[in-house]
Amino acid sequence: MAGMLLDGSIVTDRPDRVEVRDPFRRSVVDTVPIATSADIEVALAAGKAGAREMAALPAHERAAILNRAADLLEGRVEAMASILSQEEGKPITEALGEVGRIPELLRLCAFEGTQLRGETLPIDAQKGAEGKVGYTVPTPVGLVLAITPFNYPILLVTHKVGPALAAGNAVILKPASATPLTALAFCEALVEAGLPPGALQCLYGPGGKVAEPLAADPRVRLVSFTGSAAIGDRLSRVTGPKRTLLELGSNCPMVVLEDADVELAANAAATGGYINAGQVCISVQRLVVDRRVAADLIDALKERVEAIAVGDPLSPETRLAAMVDEPQAARVEEWLGEAVDAGASLVTGGERDGAVLSPAIVAGGTPAMRAAREELFGPAVMVMAVDSPQEALAEANAGAYGLSASVFTGRIDEAFSFAAGVDTGMVMVNQSPLWRADLMPYGGRRASGHGREGPRYVVHEMTEPRTIVFHGVDR
Ligand code: NAP
Repeated sequence: MAGMLLDGSIVTDRPDRVEVRDPFRRSVVDTVPIATSADIEVALAAGKAGAREMAALPAHERAAILNRAADLLEGRVEAMASILSQEEGKPITEALGEVGRIPELLRLCAFEGTQLRGETLPIDAQKGAEGKVGYTVPTPVGLVLAITPFNYPILLVTHKVGPALAAGNAVILKPASATPLTALAFCEALVEAGLPPGALQCLYGPGGKVAEPLAADPRVRLVSFTGSAAIGDRLSRVTGPKRTLLELGSNCPMVVLEDADVELAANAAATGGYINAGQVCISVQRLVVDRRVAADLIDALKERVEAIAVGDPLSPETRLAAMVDEPQAARVEEWLGEAVDAGASLVTGGERDGAVLSPAIVAGGTPAMRAAREELFGPAVMVMAVDSPQEALAEANAGAYGLSASVFTGRIDEAFSFAAGVDTGMVMVNQSPLWRADLMPYGGRRASGHGREGPRYVVHEMTEPRTIVFHGVDR
């Protein structure tokens, strides 16, 4: 029976619990306790004290803790990947890849936390301000609330908790209810590595009941949220004046121009549309292709998609397994059905067995279809034909989201023109939008949120400059 991490202790004995289910086996993996209002109060008080302790730790000690945790996690990759695969339904090869990234990512956070700098201010450039010395010092914001989604249950936790601790803050983590177990294993490694008790806590329970009161409390100084646009919108109404970083949903376009290497594009879409059963915020959802190469691209993609091994997530052969739960798979099936009813054609896939949906390609997508307009978050790609690079760019920019986009072309002028004109936070050239290096600035525009992840950028977001001016200084 897993517990929550509250004020330095693992607490299991709460009457209300969340069942953590394996969506492929349709079985219960474990249960976790739901935090009560009293637990929330304890966490806030402990977090405030933890923030003071963290702020007093020198940067090299904070870095040493994160580096020790990275070493511990390195020895636990296989065990944690197995838990992750069961709680989320992700193929074990992907789970190993996700957990395997964590030690290096934590080490990067540790390093960036040692690189925080202020500046001296040219105070005497203002008339009458002679004889003063001014400078800034980066100071930790204090208590950070990290709220994470189900789809990358340890990667996205690390992208928030690592920089927050590296910058000298305390954190309360509220992971997604579907995937709380990897988050706890991650927190345990950090505690073992020497974090003070209130520096990191992990509370479970429905977001509205547990995360929302935490987000509203003034003792929390920064909320870092990754999740859907609807919850991000709701959350931003309760956070008040505190700093809020929102990494929200998307509906990423991958544009393929007439001169593109069709085989290269097909390879990229066959990966970028179906990894993690398409439950990735930067997944290829709309394949916007020049009409003159659409048939060739669909043929090449179909061959690759039909070769994707669907099955048991714990088998090393499997490339696509279960979605996070059956209702989500049923929703995607329904949206694909609606598209077909509206005139699109199902090229392959789309059959459902419980939470497993076979990888699908839908041709003849139009912006009026929900599967092309809203965030689909499933193993399906909507092919949308266009007649020119200008039309492709207009389609790429259609809709509310603006996280990532990509273009396939051999022409440098077309690549520059697309990169300059697309209204997204990230653009890939000759790769699918589903590409990320952990060190790069990562985040979206418009309905996809604001703020940038990537350790260097987040440690700055999670500190505030204090301006200090000494008066009456003789020179
Ligand atoms: P979600 O339903 O929005 O949930 C995200 C987190 O918010 C969970 O921990 C959830 O808790 C919590 N939550 C729910 N209601 C809340 C409330 N009223 N106040 C505060 N927190 C609340 O998202 P999801 O289904 O887990 O994840 C998929 C979404 O995340 C997609 O839209 C995807 O695009 C987005 N995402 C974005 C990025 C990015 O970097 N931009 C990366 C990954 C995923 P419960 O689980 O208990 O409901």
